[in-house]
Amino acid sequence: MKAWKNNIRSVVPYVPGEQPKSSNTIKLNTNENPYPPSPKVMELCSRIDDLRLYPDPEAGKLVEALAAYKGLDRNQVFVGVGSDDVLAMAFLTFFNSDRPILFPDITYSFYDVWAELFRIPYETRPLDDNFFIRKEDYYGENGGVIFPNPNAPTGVLMPLSEICDILDHNQDVIVIVDEAYIDFGGVSALSLLSSYENLLIVQTFSKSRSMAGMRIGYAMGSPELIKAMNDVKYSFNSYTMNRPSILLGAASIEDEEYFQETTQKIIHTREWVKEELRDLGFVFPDSAANFIFASHKTVPAKEIFEAARAENIYVRYFARERIDNYLRITIGTDEEMKALIDFLKRFLNSAR
Ligand SMILES: *Cc1c(COP(=O)(O)O)cnc(C)c1O
Repeated sequence: MKAWKNNIRSVVPYVPGEQPKSSNTIKLNTNENPYPPSPKVMELCSRIDDLRLYPDPEAGKLVEALAAYKGLDRNQVFVGVGSDDVLAMAFLTFFNSDRPILFPDITYSFYDVWAELFRIPYETRPLDDNFFIRKEDYYGENGGVIFPNPNAPTGVLMPLSEICDILDHNQDVIVIVDEAYIDFGGVSALSLLSSYENLLIVQTFSKSRSMAGMRIGYAMGSPELIKAMNDVKYSFNSYTMNRPSILLGAASIEDEEYFQETTQKIIHTREWVKEELRDLGFVFPDSAANFIFASHKTVPAKEIFEAARAENIYVRYFARERIDNYLRITIGTDEEMKALIDFLKRFLNSAR
C-alpha cells in the first residue's frame, strides 16, 4: 500500500432517505412537508434579483425576523444551511471535552457521524422498551448532551419538566435540544432559555415550513453561545447562507396564518392515520411529529417496505438493531395517506 494512503481520512457518512427519480411516487420516506411553502414565499421567489451580489454574511434579515418572532434578541439567534449545518457547527463549538457526549441509542443518525468526524468521544444511552428517553441516563459527568424532541425516528415527545430535570443535572456542559419536529404539536424549550445559559435549541424550516430544498436551520441560545458558534462559522466561510434563502426564510416567518393552517392539517391527518394503522394491526409509540414509527404485529416491516416500494409508495426502513421491524411513515396529504392505507389493507390481507 502507498504510504500516503495512511493519511487519508476515512469516514462512514450519513445515509439520507432515498430520493426517487420518478415523480410518479407517493413519497413518505424523508419527513418532507406535502404542502408547498407559503404563497408569499412563492410570490417573492419570482422577484429575487441581485443574485450577482454576495449575500449578507450575517443573514441579518432572517436573524431579525426569527428573533422578533421568537421574542429574542438578535444576538440569541444563529442561522445556518439547514439544521444539519447548525448542528455540525454546534458539535464543533461546544463538544470539546475529553469526557463523552451523551445521546440516545435510537435517534437521529447524524449525531454519531459528526462525533466520529470531529473525533468527539461519545456514548449512547438506550431508550426504554417503549422507546422513551430515560432522563436518569443523562445524569453524571459527561462532555455534553444532545437529543431531538420529539425524538426521531420514534416521534416520542419529552415533557418540558423532564428537559428541565436533564438541564438541572447538567449545569457544567452544553445541552442541545434538536426541535426539528416541535411544530407538530410539541412544547418548545424556548421558555427555558432565560433560565439556562447552557441550553441550545435547534430548529429547521425543512419540515414544518415546507422548505427542505432551501436549507434553512437556526439555533437559539444565550448571546455567549451564539457568538461562539458565529466565530466558528466565520472561520470556515463568511457567506454561508445564499441570498434567496435569507429572503424567502424571512417571508415564511411573516406568514403565520399559513404556517398554522398547514401544520394543523398535518396534525389532523396524523391522528386519523394512527386510528387506521391501529385497526390494521400496527403498534407504535404515540407520535408528536410529522411521521409515525410503526411495527406490524405479524407481518415483518421489511416485507411491507419492499411491497410498498414496488407500488411506488416510499416509506423509511432502517436495517438496524432494535428497530429493524419498524417503518417510519411520513404524514403526507390526506390523499396520499388514503393511498397508503388502501395499499396496506390489500397487502396485509394477502399476506395473512
Ligand atoms: C430533518 C432533521 C434535521 C435536519 O434538517 P435540515 O433539513 O438539515 O434542517 C435535524 N435533526 C433531526 C432530528 C431531523 O429529523
